[in-house]
Amino acid sequence: MVKYVFVTGGVLSGIGKGVVTASIGKLFQFRGFTVDAMKIDPYLNVDPGTLNPIEHGEVFVCEEVWRFQPVPGQVFNIAEVDQDFGTYERFLDVDMHPQNNITSGQIYLTVVLKERFGEYLGKTVQVIPHVTNEIKKRIVEASFRRSPDVFVVEVGGTVGDIETMPYLEAIRQLRLELEKDQTVLVHVTLIPYLGTVGQHKTKPTQHSVKALQSMGLQPDIIIGRSDKLLTEDVKEKISLFCNVPKKAVISDPDLETIYDLPLVFEEQGLGELLCKLLNLKDNVNCERVDEWRKLVERFKNPRDSIDIAMVGKYCQITDSYISINEALKHAGAYFNVKVRLNFIESEEFEVNPGKLSILDRYDGMLLTPGFGVRGVEGMIMSAQYALRRRIPFLGICFGAQLMFIAFAREYLGLKDANSSEVKPDTAHPVVDLMEEQKKAKIIGGTMKLSARKIKVVEDTKLYRAYGSSEIIERFRHRYHIVPSYAKIAEEKGLVISAYDVEDGSICGIELKDAWIIGVQFHPEFKSRPNKPSPIYLAFIRNILENKKKSNNKT
Ligand code: GLN
Repeated sequence: MVKYVFVTGGVLSGIGKGVVTASIGKLFQFRGFTVDAMKIDPYLNVDPGTLNPIEHGEVFVCEEVWRFQPVPGQVFNIAEVDQDFGTYERFLDVDMHPQNNITSGQIYLTVVLKERFGEYLGKTVQVIPHVTNEIKKRIVEASFRRSPDVFVVEVGGTVGDIETMPYLEAIRQLRLELEKDQTVLVHVTLIPYLGTVGQHKTKPTQHSVKALQSMGLQPDIIIGRSDKLLTEDVKEKISLFCNVPKKAVISDPDLETIYDLPLVFEEQGLGELLCKLLNLKDNVNCERVDEWRKLVERFKNPRDSIDIAMVGKYCQITDSYISINEALKHAGAYFNVKVRLNFIESEEFEVNPGKLSILDRYDGMLLTPGFGVRGVEGMIMSAQYALRRRIPFLGICFGAQLMFIAFAREYLGLKDANSSEVKPDTAHPVVDLMEEQKKAKIIGGTMKLSARKIKVVEDTKLYRAYGSSEIIERFRHRYHIVPSYAKIAEEKGLVISAYDVEDGSICGIELKDAWIIGVQFHPEFKSRPNKPSPIYLAFIRNILENKKKSNNKT
């Protein structure tokens, strides 16, 4: 029997509900239970692939593609999911499935298509019961795909939002239909600290719990996000006004590293309480907890630090690059080093090219993924600068494509080299639309997506990083490095280091004489705190070696 933990959010969005959801999963893993997770996104996009990262953070890519079939004969490929899936994978070390990301777009598309196909013939199609039934069906079906011991369901948005209501109603019905000890409701809310009165304020939480109660939902556990641990007084107040026992009010304080949260929860007895409510045996495996604790210590006690320039076009919110940020931190922690990320909006270089010299201040540069035209020239300029100065640099996806454009401009004499994505009429489209992409009629879900087998060329830096000639990494792109131009570049010191086994496209480029590497895939999606991505590890290792050399010189 699958047990369900529903996680809702109160007061504000962006308070780390994803990390709470993942940490709850971890508590069950500490006890040897199998765990899977689901995220509900109440927006009308079918998947987040068509969203700008500045609006909603990174788009995460799963290992597999899900063939979403709302009605027979209508299939949509889905591999792009909410960024919280990255958090789940990093905490739980489980590959998430795209079927576990419900969006309102998928739900409404299904209901409307079913109506057209006559599935509700003679009936008035309504939010209740048709939409709520579809939601319940999706939750249960997804939970049965792996049938874990515990299925943690995170409801996106904030209680009180109009668009979240059908989901809360579906959860109310599910809780009624399932066994009493089969579901738990956890409400994550913000407890702000008011400096003027020197107090943590519980009123917003009281209001948000009232809103939940008015929909027939009583939380079992309240998790209070705040700057510090909540005092006994504050817990008592929340307990009294929100109708939960005091021991079910749990602190979620600011932490040095998010990976510490499962341990902070464990210390407060959250794992024990969840097991009790779900009637599960509370058998903590101390070895597992200690293993996690050791890992967290690496993040908390770095011996050294390095600085990376993160050049990109979505730097207003650092969540746009969250998997890259985490992959760099994982690799840093492996060497007991803190990786400081310095985000630089590439448009600044376009306005003021003199500013490029700030790149000299950093130990390395990461050229980020992206789409479209804005800010791209600045990214190419930074790649050209790094090539000239031999700054260690890793280009990811778009970053690799722009690295190639910079190489063509610098060393092949093609001053107007560009990507046809950026300048469709360029004389030298050294990056161009992939052949099979030319057939795509719709935009959503039609990129080259998910994991593919890659052949790594021996005797390259990429090969040394992975220690293997065959790897599997995840993709999300439409354009590619054009082989005829890459051939010419090879004569000028560029090495092609990897190919897609299936379609033969170029997946890796590097400089013969410098640690400058571009990969068309997204290795960050597979990096876990305890299993850093090989290429990110090689990047940090190279930076540390450079530092050592320059320290020896001085
Ligand atoms: N815009 C580029 C493409 O579609 C790169 C995509 C990316 O960086 N994920 O090929």
